[in-house]
Amino acid sequence: MTGTYLKGWGGTSPTVADVVRPNDREAIRRTIAAAGPRGTITRGLGRSYGDPAQNAGGTVLDLTGWDAILDVDTRAPSVRVQAGISIDCLLRAMLPLGLWLPVVPGTRQVTVGGAIAADVHGKNHHVDGSFGNHVESMDLMLASGDIVTLSPGDDDPALFWATIGGMGLTGIVLEATVRLKRVETSYFVVDTERTPDLATLLERLVSGDSAYTYSVAWFDTATRGDALGRSVITRGNTASVADLDPDRRGHALDFAASQRGRVPFNLPMSMVNRLSARAFNALWYAKAPRHRIGEIQDITQFFHPLDIIGDWNRLYGPHGFCQYQFVVPDDEQAAFTAAVEQIASSGHVSSLNVLKRFGQANPSPLSFPQPGWTLAVDLPVRSGLDRLLSHLDSVVVAAGGRVYLAKDSRTTATTLRHMYPRLEEFLAVRRRVDPAGVLRSDLSRRLDL
Ligand SMILES: Cc1cc2nc3c(=O)[nH]c(=O)nc-3n(C[C@H](O)[C@H](O)[C@H](O)COP(=O)(O)OP(=O)(O)OC[C@H]3O[C@@H](n4cnc5c(N)ncnc54)[C@H](O)[C@@H]3O)c2cc1C
Repeated sequence: MTGTYLKGWGGTSPTVADVVRPNDREAIRRTIAAAGPRGTITRGLGRSYGDPAQNAGGTVLDLTGWDAILDVDTRAPSVRVQAGISIDCLLRAMLPLGLWLPVVPGTRQVTVGGAIAADVHGKNHHVDGSFGNHVESMDLMLASGDIVTLSPGDDDPALFWATIGGMGLTGIVLEATVRLKRVETSYFVVDTERTPDLATLLERLVSGDSAYTYSVAWFDTATRGDALGRSVITRGNTASVADLDPDRRGHALDFAASQRGRVPFNLPMSMVNRLSARAFNALWYAKAPRHRIGEIQDITQFFHPLDIIGDWNRLYGPHGFCQYQFVVPDDEQAAFTAAVEQIASSGHVSSLNVLKRFGQANPSPLSFPQPGWTLAVDLPVRSGLDRLLSHLDSVVVAAGGRVYLAKDSRTTATTLRHMYPRLEEFLAVRRRVDPAGVLRSDLSRRLDL
């Protein structure tokens, strides 16, 4: 075995596995059949933060070379792809046709397989739901090597929905047909406003989100007292050609998504500390307009500011960072506020704090989104962090909420069972299609899945 050192985006728990890059279905089947007692798991672009795409001592199927666009139905509209294609490549190919993915997460560097397995959400969850809502069908290779075609209305909806959000543990998604939406431009009409505190932020999202397809808020978790949770809300809708100035109208569907550099190597120490994070929080708030409406922004400005600098996770140094993303129900604003206060007073400072209000959940038993408030914070690993996050876990559980498996690297099997009340439904499907537990990952061992 030639071991490869694999990490998640947070870089917290690297392990070594035998990475296989199969180029046809038979090679995938052979890899599964040859998996030893440590099993095998699929990996996309490794953008989940923790350990779901790692498999210490076992094999990992890297499907990023499995990236063809197989068919585009411009009338439906929908696209059939191999599951290793990135959302970046797919959008670049679809935009000239005036087509766009209904759900796009905060980075384009994720594969369609990873988007299905984590059931990713975007800024439009309150309108369009999560990625799985738009999957029309998929071919799944099971641990037995058999291939089944699944769709939500067919014979085995339980397996379809367990695969959506199932973190690669029900099978290997080989191909998928995903619904698309039509757009006239690749631009967005964006309104920005600042709110002075957390209570005003929550109130503004409740009263204003319905006017927008996309909505998200960045907020300050470093400033305490009356200004706790002061925020910058950005909300928008896809621009029509008529919204653009004459210069842009001729290039309305251009993919304006450049990368302006990358962090070239793993830094020996974290550049993100209390001082820099506090300064960043203050600057972000100060530089935002108090109230601006109708600004035209491109894809990177509006959706993916983090993609402007490649490998930015290296700024966190050798110990990495945890992204803690949780959701609590709508009527648990008090718990939400308590969690924010806990973070602000903990001495751990996050510079990336994203708040969103989710809409309806889909039928998947392990999908993360449920109606309510979701917050994501990036916290550098240092002494005492697990104590803080374990405390937050208990606030979240008591409020009937959960953490997001695509971001998690440290919660426990017991806590997970309190967070996901339909977990047993997922496990029943998993036992049915993979009784020997061939599909395994570091996450599945940690969380007893
Ligand atoms: C900067 C940044 C911003 C992000 N923003 C968002 C966001 O806004 N919303 C959101 O929901 N998520 C977000 N994420 C998380 C990311 O979308 C998910 O973790 C996604 O699953 C990553 O896809 P990947 O291709 O990198 O998969 P990996 O991280 O490689 O794998 C993730 C999971 O998918 C499984 N998997 C991968 N391919 C397949 C396949 N073909 N068949 C079966 N299982 C498979 C793996 O086994 C693993 O369990 C963000 C991540 C980053 C780094």
